[in-house]
Amino acid sequence: MQEEVRAQGLWAAHLDPELGGQGFGQVKLGLMHEILGTSPIAPLAFGNAAPDSGNSEILALAGTPEQKERYLHPLLAGDLKSAFSMTEPHTAGSDPTLLATQAVRNGGDWVINGHKWFSSNASIADFLIVMAVSDPGARPHQRASMFLVDADTPGVRIVRDVATMEHPEESFGRYGNHAEVLYEDVRVPAEALLGAEGAGFLIAQQRLYPGRIHHCMRWLGVARRAFDMLCERSLYRHAHGSVLSGHQSVQNWIADSAAEMQAARLMTLHAAWKMDSEGVAAARTEIGLIKFLRRSGPARRRRSGPPGPRGAGVLHRPAAGGDVPLRPRGADLRRARRGPSRLGRAPGAARLRTAR
Ligand SMILES: Cc1cc2nc3c(=O)[nH]c(=O)nc-3n(C[C@H](O)[C@H](O)[C@H](O)COP(=O)(O)OP(=O)(O)OC[C@H]3O[C@@H](n4cnc5c(N)ncnc54)[C@H](O)[C@@H]3O)c2cc1C
Repeated sequence: MQEEVRAQGLWAAHLDPELGGQGFGQVKLGLMHEILGTSPIAPLAFGNAAPDSGNSEILALAGTPEQKERYLHPLLAGDLKSAFSMTEPHTAGSDPTLLATQAVRNGGDWVINGHKWFSSNASIADFLIVMAVSDPGARPHQRASMFLVDADTPGVRIVRDVATMEHPEESFGRYGNHAEVLYEDVRVPAEALLGAEGAGFLIAQQRLYPGRIHHCMRWLGVARRAFDMLCERSLYRHAHGSVLSGHQSVQNWIADSAAEMQAARLMTLHAAWKMDSEGVAAARTEIGLIKFLRRSGPARRRRSGPPGPRGAGVLHRPAAGGDVPLRPRGADLRRARRGPSRLGRAPGAARLRTAR
């Protein structure tokens, strides 16, 4: 499938053409992601699966020519797998100024010590992008740096894959799992520093905004698929004297869902248009608004599964061999991944107040 996608000129479409992407811009990408969102395997087939897609953006943004040669090009070719290792079990992920993992200069090297978890795909990754405090005395948002760490560097210990609602059963080394990782005196050369020293937050933010809107775009497709299933089921499932679509509350579900989905779609495409025309920074408020609307509106369509088939709506096995091609329980996990909505609302409100 990946070969066919490449032949059609659709591989890694989120990146600029000089990096092997298509340079579509966000609006066109939004329309494409909406279609891809209908399938759980599409991001893999199209070279834009997280976390490799976000990590490739970081490398494109901040990597030296040597780092791009060694990590970015093989990552884009699908020859390497990557992980982003920031969240820690003992500090709040929603406030990364509290990070405890440290990188200390030692001769020409950096020595990293720390404890991470929820590093998606770390147990199958070839390299990890590790966020660590490199200058504890600096201002909070200038304390951390990013480091490129090969997974086989001595001291990198993948402890386990954390069981989640999405993958509740014990399993290790599987795509999509989230690992707990110990970094014990991990020594990396100076060239492992990714971007400027102390620029970890800046780079993370630059990665986060496009990443957020791409999630929103895919969610439109997820919601559309749930909606189609709802409509289809409501036409043949018979209960209490008629097919489900004959009952008023089911009609309400359909109408409410259509309205919410349309609102989310137009807000997403508007944010994408603003990113294309005025840049990422100018679209921060619009991206923030769509991020939490997605969680409250269309997320409901998806979280409860297709509302028509109550029982089927809570089956969670995805994709091939599964009962329902959606992941109602995994959806809740994905909502958590991009950070709490409460935190997105406050800066959005502040920007809106100042703009008035
Ligand atoms: C599926 C999945 C994949 C992930 N992948 C990665 C990955 O690849 N790499 C990585 O580094 N991390 C990853 N994460 C971690 C994710 O980024 C964090 O879970 C997230 O940032 C929240 O941090 P936390 O879990 O430490 O929660 P905390 O920050 O401890 O928050 C706990 C609770 O407090 C609430 N809260 C926090 N602050 C406020 C506030 N000011 N007001 C009101 N309520 C508040 C939050 O909403 C939350 O409910 C992943 C998480 C998930 C679920």
